[in-house]
Amino acid sequence: MRRKFVAGNWKMNGSLAALAELEAIAAAIDPRVDVAVAVPATLIHAANARAGFPIGAQDVHAADSGAHTGCLSAPMIAEAGAAFAIVGHSERRQGQHETDADVKAKAEALHRHRLDAILCVGETLDQREAGQAEAVVTAQVLASLPEGAAGDWLAIAYEPIWAIGTGKVATVADVETMHAAICSALVEALGQEAADAIRLLYGGSVTAENAAGLLHAAEVDGALVGGASLTAAKFVPIIKAAAG
Ligand code: PEP
Repeated sequence: MRRKFVAGNWKMNGSLAALAELEAIAAAIDPRVDVAVAVPATLIHAANARAGFPIGAQDVHAADSGAHTGCLSAPMIAEAGAAFAIVGHSERRQGQHETDADVKAKAEALHRHRLDAILCVGETLDQREAGQAEAVVTAQVLASLPEGAAGDWLAIAYEPIWAIGTGKVATVADVETMHAAICSALVEALGQEAADAIRLLYGGSVTAENAAGLLHAAEVDGALVGGASLTAAKFVPIIKAAAG
């Protein structure tokens, strides 16, 4: 069985004062679970000094440098102390109009600079209600999949958009069906062995209450957690559920 991976996404939340939460998380980490938190870029350096587990960014530019005002490159986040970045989060795909090609290029930039990637995919409520969820998500996976995709640096997070930050969580059956579809797409693209090594996370309103069922569902190797990663009190029980 693959080690479970529980990653937090602080989004545009947090401050230097909030980094005490990372120390509390570090103190309670279960050695059987891989834990990481993606913080705002302004906090990467300080968070990395205090957390004792991998700290990441929430986005990265595909280019190494250049005229891209306001953006950060993979070498920059690496120098700040990031070990990974999230790419293709739906809030960026929708809010910043990022395409699958953009997401692929960002993941490849991370890999060029020996950083890990969590690549997010997910369908809208309209797409789910139209019966298109699996087709949409597997198409996103195949079109966003970076060259050199491999389990030692890449994880894929299935995050139904309607479940992010809404309190509406996908059913275990829905997650299992989608993760099986993603696995098949990965096998088609990469072959069985390489596909098996890529961890598949579920994200979308994961809490201490629902974590155990989701984290131990078939083909679920971990979780990407937004709101409940902001405090140790909410995040640590999810890590413990992954270990249990
Ligand atoms: C996320 O931001 O990736 C996420 C899953 O958020 P939440 O857990 O708050 O739904």
